[in-house]
Amino acid sequence: MLNLVLFGPPGAGKGTQSQKLIDKYGLIHLSTGDLLRGEISQGTELGLEAKKLMDEGLLVPDAVVIGMISNKLDANKDAKGFIFDGFPRTVAQAEALDTLLESKSSAISGMVALEVDDDELERRLLLRGKDSGRPDDADPAIIRKRIKEYNDKTKPVAGYYKNQNKFTSINGIGSIEEIFSAIVAVIEKY
Ligand code: AMP
Repeated sequence: MLNLVLFGPPGAGKGTQSQKLIDKYGLIHLSTGDLLRGEISQGTELGLEAKKLMDEGLLVPDAVVIGMISNKLDANKDAKGFIFDGFPRTVAQAEALDTLLESKSSAISGMVALEVDDDELERRLLLRGKDSGRPDDADPAIIRKRIKEYNDKTKPVAGYYKNQNKFTSINGIGSIEEIFSAIVAVIEKY
């Protein structure tokens, strides 16, 4: 099984690259951001609670996203593998993911981090906000809060995978094809 964690700050290009990786490797894409937006559009209680935090640029509680991922793993028992996009975002989530995969006799193959500087992220997110209609992409103050949440809570997740010798970082600035080739080169070594 190929289980990839695609890592990087908001606006790094994780969604774009996930789509190309799914096409190439036939993996299931698990984006907790997409799953949460799905809950919001269905008007569920979980979605309503999450929306308040998401609109503020804050992380939703670990238990919420871990529960969603657990359900998706159970619902896709015959998958060739998974791309985790926007998850895990805290060390507690990374630990929970290891436990979930272990219980299915599986494991994370590796983490690939897309490196993009904060100024470029802010520029990309504001641009994306024009089309995405996402409230959290529209306001520079919220974008900066999301980047701060990333720096405070999510960056340490890289250390978690470094300790397991499962971490590779690549330059996230360049053409979509260049970045994709760099990710594929890492995956081919797993
Ligand atoms: P994303 O689409 O990955 O940029 O996520 C959008 C928002 O959803 C984030 O700013 C968080 O509020 C929330 N979110 C998504 N994934 C997670 C996660 N793994 N842990 C906590 N909050 C998350």
